[in-house]
Amino acid sequence: MRAEILVIGAGPTGCTVATTLARLGHDVLMIDRDDPPRVAVGESLIPVCREVLDDLGVDMTGFLPKHGAVFRWGGRSVRFGFDEGMRPDHVLAWQTPRAELDRRMREVARGAGVRFAQTDVRAVDVPNRTVSTGLGEVEAGFLVDCGGRNQLLGRALGVRAKHPWLKNAAVGAWHRGVRVQDEEPGDVVICAYDGGWFWFIPFADGTWSVGTTLTPRGPTGPDRWAEALARCPDAQERLEGAERLEPFRGTSDISVSSTAFHGDGWALVGDAATFLDPVFSTGIALGLFGGRDFARTWSAGGDLDAWEARCRAAVQAFEPVVQAWYEGDRFLRVAFAEAERHQPTVRKAIVSLLAGDVFDPDFTGPRRLGARFDSIERMVLGA
Ligand SMILES: Cc1cc2nc3c(=O)[nH]c(=O)nc-3n(C[C@H](O)[C@H](O)[C@H](O)COP(=O)(O)OP(=O)(O)OC[C@H]3O[C@@H](n4cnc5c(N)ncnc54)[C@H](O)[C@@H]3O)c2cc1C
Repeated sequence: MRAEILVIGAGPTGCTVATTLARLGHDVLMIDRDDPPRVAVGESLIPVCREVLDDLGVDMTGFLPKHGAVFRWGGRSVRFGFDEGMRPDHVLAWQTPRAELDRRMREVARGAGVRFAQTDVRAVDVPNRTVSTGLGEVEAGFLVDCGGRNQLLGRALGVRAKHPWLKNAAVGAWHRGVRVQDEEPGDVVICAYDGGWFWFIPFADGTWSVGTTLTPRGPTGPDRWAEALARCPDAQERLEGAERLEPFRGTSDISVSSTAFHGDGWALVGDAATFLDPVFSTGIALGLFGGRDFARTWSAGGDLDAWEARCRAAVQAFEPVVQAWYEGDRFLRVAFAEAERHQPTVRKAIVSLLAGDVFDPDFTGPRRLGARFDSIERMVLGA
């Protein structure tokens, strides 16, 4: 097989890259080991995703609309509705079982003329632009790794890096019969505890994705789940009487990074380049925007260093706030204190960051929240 451009991985990032390139007139081959796609994490979208999904023409009918996020901590809760943000255009997102989202995105890619092969990529020869697959050798003019956190190409190139301070694991499973508390229908609920947090993501059919992210990285079996649950009365309450629908799925090391996102004849996009942390549900948005931007830039013969810088800037917008989440519960203390202290501008900026409104170069509000988090913390907490 041969292609002008080979996209490894047909998740949200790969489909965005492939569809955009095909529409710009390129010959694209996309490979994924799973077809139909499998159940995966990355189920709670944030409102900013809508721009790229609309642009691609992905049908979101039937997914559960999501209008906000609720944080629970020590028996208390605070809700951030997306309609309270700095701009009125980022108010709606969806909770999407990934197998179905990816299936729809692949359909869009095929409709745009992307060729698809179901096979496993086993090895990559970057200088010769060839990959060996279960279906034989594939030659390509350019290789794009959208294969996720395994970082196949990044490993082969030696550009894979560990995140300097994020060292978390995750374990979870779909459940039925989860108790609803004070959230609005469709909200994602995050329950924080000492050492981690639980996510509760509702789907349209009444099932829930429930999982926990916890420190340190390492084992992700049922014992780890039990240990986490024992520490989190909020999650215990929600799960009382609930039924687990599948074996636990785990990830022993969540955060990944790369020292370079592109080079001669290759690029890494989405999680294959970098994945920070799931606490603010940013992974899909970063893949969609980074993927569309890559395809447009590459097709135009543009500056891929500038593309990489934009991708890194988007991650950096979230990073100080993620750090404030994990270090001394600083984010939670601000989020919970803020309503009582009536800091409307801070609240609006938090909501806009939670909506993912960090990709517009002319709109800096939510991006500045992270950079100024220390001073905001002092202002809000009076510390
Ligand atoms: C615990 C956890 C919870 C998360 N929750 C959220 C959330 O709620 N919201 C959110 O936005 N993000 C979330 N994320 C992040 C999200 O899962 C990722 O950012 C997102 O899936 C990245 O999409 P992608 O297309 O880059 O990679 P992936 O979704 O990983 O897709 C990669 C594709 O490549 C294929 N592939 C991989 N290797 C090969 C190979 N060798 N050969 C052939 N095919 C291959 C796979 O089959 C897959 O289809 C979470 C992440 C974790 C770890």
